[in-house]
Formats: sequence, C-alpha cells, structure tokens
Amino acid sequence: SAKEKGRNQYQVFDPGQHAWQRERRFQLIEIAQAIENDEFELHFQPQLRMADSEIIGFEALIRWHHPEKGLIAPGLFLPAVEHSHLESALGQWVINHALAKMQQWQEAGQEIPVCINISAAHMMDPAFVDVLSDCLLAHPSVNPSQVTLEVLESTALEDTKSAANMLARCRKLGVQVALDDFGTGFSSMTYLRSLPVDMIKIDQSFIRNMLSDANDRAIVEGIIFMAQRFRHRVLAEGVETLEHAMALKKMGCDLIQGYGIARPMPAADVLSWLENWQSHARHKSIIHELRS
Ligand code: C2E
Ligand code: MG
Ligand code: MG
Ligand code: MG
Repeated sequence: SAKEKGRNQYQVFDPGQHAWQRERRFQLIEIAQAIENDEFELHFQPQLRMADSEIIGFEALIRWHHPEKGLIAPGLFLPAVEHSHLESALGQWVINHALAKMQQWQEAGQEIPVCINISAAHMMDPAFVDVLSDCLLAHPSVNPSQVTLEVLESTALEDTKSAANMLARCRKLGVQVALDDFGTGFSSMTYLRSLPVDMIKIDQSFIRNMLSDANDRAIVEGIIFMAQRFRHRVLAEGVETLEHAMALKKMGCDLIQGYGIARPMPAADVLSWLENWQSHARHKSIIHELRS
C-alpha cells in the first residue's frame, strides 16, 4: 500500500534505525535493481552416484554478478531477500533460468536433471504451484521428472498439513522434492514423518567431522538408515575427500555432492565438464579409486 511504501521509504533515512536494518534496506533496493539489470546467474554443481560413477544431476546455485564487487555468494544477499517483497520475484527468476538452461542442454542433446533451491516461504505462497506449472509449460522440452525442488526445513513448513498439501501439488506436476540441509532444523523428524519427499540431503555440517566425531557419524548413519526405511533417496552434501566418500559408501549412502567431485561452475562450462567426466575424468575420480 502507499502508506506502507511511504513508511518504508522513511525508514531508509531513519537515523534511529539500527545500522544493520538500514544496510538491509539499501541492499534490497540494490537487489531489485540487480534483478532488472539481469545481474544474477546460476552456477551448477554435479551430483555423483558412486555405484557406477554416473553424474545424476546438478544443483543450481545462485550468484550475484555485481558490476563493482564481482561475484557475490548467496549467503551475503539471500538473508536480506528472505521475508521481503523480493523473495518470490527472485525465486521465480531462479526457476525460470534453471528451466531455460535445462531446455538449452536438452536441445543440445543432453538431458540433465537439475535441483533448484526454493525458499520455503516462496513455496508456501498460494500462487507457487501455478507459477511453477506455467514455467514448466513455457519450457516444453524439459521433462518435469528431471526437476527437483530443494526445500529447507523452515518455520514456513511448520503447518505440516499445508506444507504436505503444497508438496503433493508440486509432485502432481511431475517434479521431485528434496529436503535440503536435513538435520539442521528443529523439527527434522516431524518433516520426515509428514512431508511427501523423494530425497533427503544430509547437511554438510554433519559430513565435515563425521570421520573424527563419533556423534556426527552417528547422526549421519541414523539419517541414512531412516531415509532408507522411508524409501527416500539420500545424498550427502559437502563431500571433499576420498575418505569421506568411502565412509559414506560403507554406510549405504551412494549419492554425493561436494568439492571432492567439483565446485559449482558457470552454466557455460557444464556440457564440456560432463564430456570430460564421461570420457576420462571418471576413471581418475575418487570413485575409481574406491573400486581398485
Ligand atoms: P545449499 O543448497 O545447501 O547448497 C550447498 C552449498 O554448499 C553451496 O553454497 C555450495 O557451493 C556449497 N558446497 C558444495 N560442496 C561443498 C564442499 O564440498 N565444501 C564446502 N565447504 N561447501 C560446499 P552456496 O552456493 O554459497 O549456497 C549457500 C546456500 O544458499 C545454499 O545451500 C542454499 O540454501 C542457498 N541458495 C543458493 N542458491 C539458491 C537459490 O537459487 N535459491 C534459494 N532459495 N536459495 C539458494
Ligand atoms: Mg540446496
Ligand atoms: Mg544443503
Ligand atoms: Mg545449505
């Protein structure tokens, strides 16, 4: 409303406001301009199935290509976007661009599954399913089954009945759903019990120390066990070393993602990276070492 707008504009210059609030408000104005100026881009990180060294897909990760500051990581601007009027706009930008890349790759002869991060608040927006459906219709060569929505455990899902209903409607469109950073929220078990999902991503904070920390290892083992009992696929994030990959394989987690395979890369590099992987890199990979 005009009244709200006026108040917001006033707040920008309110000397009584906390510095971080002012900072955040300025950042939101900058972000709105950045959406218009097309300054965001998606990078893609491969996900590996160890059993046969196949790349099963890529996760799309947003970056801000700032004209002066260079490439900015999402951790530095997404917190400002969360719960703001830009959350849906940026979320839609991400879905559109991810599907556009999938369509390009499809037309180049490669069907590449892509995981798209969705903020829970955006997903719970009543318009979300229609927007997603329109986006899919606008990219007809993309098979919806190759699209996975990654959603974080979040207070926006606390009404698990509505959340389950929303996820079910998304899955009706043919897309898959993954629970991201699993285990870091306060209600992981409730979500596991109540939400219809296809995959669970074990948060990298548990993976990082699991070789030295018995508690973290127990958590990782527990999550893998539960995922299997629920018949969800389970993927470990933040896998950096061969030792981590080996331990995960032994524990029964065959899907991994992390710097140990590749860092997120610009979309323009994905096809050549895949070709290189398929022709020889896989034979030098941690997985090949696992077998020999
Ligand atoms: P996430 O979805 O859990 O993504 C994984 C993060 O871990 C990414 O950070 C990735 O670059 C990083 N990572 C991957 N492998 C390794 C590894 O082996 N070691 C370490 N130390 N880090 C690794 P990034 O790109 O900075 O993204 C951070 C978070 O921002 C994401 O966590 C996700 O929650 C959010 N995010 C990123 N892109 C989007 C987006 O398009 N939309 C939304 N809503 N959120 C996004
Ligand atoms: Mg993710
Ligand atoms: Mg994650
Ligand atoms: Mg994360």
